[in-house]
Amino acid sequence: MITVIGSLNMDLVVQMEAFPKQGETILGKDFQTMPGGKGANQAVAAARLGIEIAMIGCVGSDSFGETLRTVLQQEHIQTEAIASTSVPTGIANILIYNNDNRIIVVPGANYELKPDHIEAAKEIIQKSQMVIMQLEIPMETTAYAIKLCKEANVPVLLNPAPAANFNMQWMEDITYITPNETECKQLFGDHFDQLLEKYPNKMIITLGSDGARYFDGEYPIHVPGFMTNAVDTTGAGDTFNGALAYALVEGQSLDQAVYFANLAASLSVEKYGAQSGMPTLEAVYARMA
Ligand code: ATP
Repeated sequence: MITVIGSLNMDLVVQMEAFPKQGETILGKDFQTMPGGKGANQAVAAARLGIEIAMIGCVGSDSFGETLRTVLQQEHIQTEAIASTSVPTGIANILIYNNDNRIIVVPGANYELKPDHIEAAKEIIQKSQMVIMQLEIPMETTAYAIKLCKEANVPVLLNPAPAANFNMQWMEDITYITPNETECKQLFGDHFDQLLEKYPNKMIITLGSDGARYFDGEYPIHVPGFMTNAVDTTGAGDTFNGALAYALVEGQSLDQAVYFANLAASLSVEKYGAQSGMPTLEAVYARMA
């Protein structure tokens, strides 16, 4: 079983024919609500592959919160440790025009996830084979969860996004860290090979369509990405993380697991939307064949 500790958002997506100027009101072309948040996305990515998932997070006592819970339940994800608060559910307001976007994220209830909630869900964490985290929740909560996992000897896969919420002191206690190139430069600088050598079999840098890179203790390993017909890369990173955790828990070597995660993520970019493009295990095997 894998536990995901992280964010749940409702994405409010507006397709536009122009962005409004200051003080201007214009008509949008299309509007959709889509479940999102890195935590929920990574939980769905792993659950689609067929492993038991529990989610720890926080939503508002409102209709978005209700919907996000239901969506996870439909993916067979355990939602008992998702708390409710009077603060509204987190949202991302996404304006899209001509391959360009403007995004406003309001963390809302996600920032109400406190160390007490993690403590209350201690038993779930203790019986997990791995815990996946990202950084869209308060830093004190991430710190508490990492400490609890260390005490319980549960491996942690941390996706350091957004990078601003990362604390370098966590490096020692986490098992895997998966920055993309931008996060990596922001947190550690741009000498990737030297950096990877410092964190063998721990740091996996994702490189978009180029795949991912890590250091195996002896050699730098580049696991190439898969050529695909990409239509929407939203959620590629989330699919990579969910699939990587799944493969590692299933006992695959890091090399195999990164290959598997690249494959799953490449399938996710062939469809629009973050969660809607995430593949099942059958779909991943079908592509492997
Ligand atoms: P995003 O924010 O778009 O969800 P990210 O910036 O967190 O993603 P990336 O490094 O861009 O992370 O992508 C994560 C993984 O997704 C890559 O390692 C790769 O396996 C896969 N991937 C991303 N883009 C493509 C693409 N165009 N074609 C094939 N695979 C891709």
